[in-house]
Amino acid sequence: MDDLKVLEAELEQYKLKNKELEERVDELTDFVENASIPLHWVDENGIILWANKAELDALGFLYDEYVGQPISNFHADSDTINDILSRLTNNETLNNYPASLKTKDGSLRHVLISSNVLRKDGKFVHTRCFTKDITEIKKEEERKIAFVAMVSHELKTPLTSLTSYIQILMRRAKKEDNDFVLNALNRAELQAKKMANMLSDFLSQAKYQEGKVTLHRENFVLKELIAEIAEDVNFTTTKNFKLTTSCPDNSVFADRDKIGQVLTNLITNAIKYSNDDGVITIKCENHPDKVRISVIDNGIGISGSDQERLFERFYRVNNDKSSKVEGFGIGLYLVSEILRYHHSSIKVISEKGQGSTFYFDLDINPSEV
Ligand code: ADP
Repeated sequence: MDDLKVLEAELEQYKLKNKELEERVDELTDFVENASIPLHWVDENGIILWANKAELDALGFLYDEYVGQPISNFHADSDTINDILSRLTNNETLNNYPASLKTKDGSLRHVLISSNVLRKDGKFVHTRCFTKDITEIKKEEERKIAFVAMVSHELKTPLTSLTSYIQILMRRAKKEDNDFVLNALNRAELQAKKMANMLSDFLSQAKYQEGKVTLHRENFVLKELIAEIAEDVNFTTTKNFKLTTSCPDNSVFADRDKIGQVLTNLITNAIKYSNDDGVITIKCENHPDKVRISVIDNGIGISGSDQERLFERFYRVNNDKSSKVEGFGIGLYLVSEILRYHHSSIKVISEKGQGSTFYFDLDINPSEV
């Protein structure tokens, strides 16, 4: 009899726990269904298994118009969704992966997707995707870029004529042996050149944004380009630094001007983000069909979390040391875009306070491989 009572009490306990669990599940389901962040699950074949209200509202579809459909139907770019699915299948976790989704009214929503795969006993159950809408941020950014490009364009012509007048006056001051005026004009020319470099970066980033860039590849000797850039950087920098280069004589096959821009930006940064008397090394190492170029400094270094965002447009590290240095956060974005056009990429190794190494690979002149 006692045993029966114990059993009955256990059963009551069990029922109570079960009820509590059911309530928790209901609460969580309600939370996920009505969460303000858009969510959807997709199966191994890319078919949408479930979506919450926020997701359906954001895209304007009814549940049955969305769930059960291939997710690729709603992506503006098929390469993007194929890449997302293949990364997830390969066990990658996605954080803020940029994508564009089609809405029912035909407009596009720009989103950042964060996702991973729920697996049971190693088997793919479904993906769990969160999307963050950045359409307004993107539009604002596009307006900013268009404005910056327009202003840069308007400033270019007066700056060119200003530089010409400076050069005419410099010739006259030289003839007249007027060292005071010559010195002042030298400084004016330096500032004008800095401004011209800035405007050129602003104009280039707008072109990359619009995809209006073509490469003019040729064979050229990297060592010679580096020597030219070093001389140029020396001219435009007032800081003391020591630059050493070790590069072989062979040539690479790339767009000379654009690789010049990459090197200028990396070397200028190495100087900007180092203390006075910084030591900068440019190293080139030959691999079977590539050359690896590294720009190494002993400057302020970059923390791990900043390294992840360094190549985003307008991204600047926000700490005491970096904020004191002038800049717009465009240089490294341009570096990464130019290298992307060359089917290469920029990499960084750095530690806060320990200096940084930025490196990338270029194709060697095919006739020298
Ligand atoms: P800018 O220098 O105009 O801010 P960049 O895109 O060239 O823009 O660089 C982005 C950010 O990366 C900089 O603001 C700086 O904080 C950091 N950075 C770039 N190069 C270096 C470097 N060699 N050492 C330390 N920090 C760097």
